[in-house]
Amino acid sequence: MSAEFLAALATLTDAAGILMGDAMAGYLLDQRRRYQGSALAVARPRDTTEVAAMLALCHRHGVPVVPQGGNTSLCGGATPDSSGTALVISLERYNAIEQIDAENNTITVAAGATLASVQKAARDADRLFPADWAAAASCQIGGALATNAGGINVLRYGNMRNLTLGLEVVLADGTIWNGLRGLRKDNTGYDLKQLFIGSEGTLGIITRAVLRLYPAPTAHATALVNIASPQAALELLHGLQGSVGDRITSFELISAPCMALLAKHFPSLPQPFQPIPDWLVLVELADGGDSETLNDRLAEALFAAGCEDALLAQHGAQSRAFWDLRESIPEAQRLEGVSIKHDISVPLSAIPGFIDECGQSLLAAYPAAQIIAFGHLGDGNLHYNIFLPDHSAAVYAEESTVNELVYSAVAARQGSFSAEHGIGQLKRRLLATYRSPVELAMMRQIKTALDPQNLLNPCKFLP
Ligand SMILES: Cc1cc2nc3c(=O)[nH]c(=O)nc-3n(C[C@H](O)[C@H](O)[C@H](O)COP(=O)(O)OP(=O)(O)OC[C@H]3O[C@@H](n4cnc5c(N)ncnc54)[C@H](O)[C@@H]3O)c2cc1C
Repeated sequence: MSAEFLAALATLTDAAGILMGDAMAGYLLDQRRRYQGSALAVARPRDTTEVAAMLALCHRHGVPVVPQGGNTSLCGGATPDSSGTALVISLERYNAIEQIDAENNTITVAAGATLASVQKAARDADRLFPADWAAAASCQIGGALATNAGGINVLRYGNMRNLTLGLEVVLADGTIWNGLRGLRKDNTGYDLKQLFIGSEGTLGIITRAVLRLYPAPTAHATALVNIASPQAALELLHGLQGSVGDRITSFELISAPCMALLAKHFPSLPQPFQPIPDWLVLVELADGGDSETLNDRLAEALFAAGCEDALLAQHGAQSRAFWDLRESIPEAQRLEGVSIKHDISVPLSAIPGFIDECGQSLLAAYPAAQIIAFGHLGDGNLHYNIFLPDHSAAVYAEESTVNELVYSAVAARQGSFSAEHGIGQLKRRLLATYRSPVELAMMRQIKTALDPQNLLNPCKFLP
């Protein structure tokens, strides 16, 4: 069967569009190197018609399909299983920026366009596409949509769900749904695009999108604030929201162990406060005025909120240096070794209690644990990662015990065990534990309706 399938597949695109053997290696290993998969082939369609023909073929032959974007998923979402029966469909060659409608503030792109290329196209048209995170150069719009990715500007602009006006999707049997509308208001039935956003490639392959653009800010102000506690950080956020409102684009919390890891692995990065404070907040404002005025407003707002120890970036390079600290934390962790990672959210008001109580219960069970807590405090979303004394993959033997401690503290606050990175392979069993039978049943009904043969990204997402 596979010879017949592969022969038919080869007729659907050009020779460079089908990879086999060693050429597939980069598509079969996940970003964190936890999942090594295997595949029949990797197909690289160039347009929607080719995607549709490939899905129709897979549908006829009962071949599972793993959609893949930039393969930056942090939970093994884009990696096939080890059976070798799936076709990986990579959107990397379908990457055009198709149209910018500056008056409608929209951009239409193919799903394989990288986030960085969309940001640049928006900048070139004097607009802002605000989605941003450290994988921007390699992750693709299709993958960002399929995971409803967030990043550092969610506080002001929302996540991919909020940034999307229209989608084109190829369904499991090869049917093309064109919902590429650039409308901000449209109450004509179910909002179908929202079904596909965050569905992790299990309901269809996203092929094109109409995304929202915003006026490009002309002024930025950045501050790094020494803050006593997460509670004080929360109070600062509310104080700033009262004074500078939605000019706040980012509000990131950084704990002392993060700074210590940076000092160890990136000694060339400046440590702005000595000794390292227990907590820091990185605040970014943006608006359409001039940077000097915005800096003054931020200084006044910090002073009014009672901050006595804050550094205001005096120029772009200093702002970049502050952000380098924040964005180097994941790499510093990687250099330190293997940790048990969590990407959780709780209501903002519950963050201080979560950090206190979860920290205590972890240290009671693992007195030598090192907790690396940082992230998007303004969204109630923390990266909450645990190093145990053994920094090798052997720590995964403790993963379910550590997870139980962390996720029960999250669940007690009606939080989410996966705020940004999705379910993929890593968190599949958790969905069954932390989502109600009613929610799981509805999800299964949707999956069965759109993919009755369970061919799209099987073994992911739904337990
Ligand atoms: C350094 C780093 C920093 C990160 N920071 C953040 C962050 O701040 N916030 C955040 O939310 N995420 C973050 N991520 C996670 C990741 O970048 C995002 O989830 C990303 O958007 C995935 O895009 P991708 O193109 O790499 O998708 P992939 O990893 O290739 O795929 C992800 C999922 O989407 C599916 N998929 C891919 N393309 C399509 C398509 N066209 N149609 C249907 N399904 C598809 C795949 O099957 C898979 O389930 C980070 C990752 C890294 C490595």
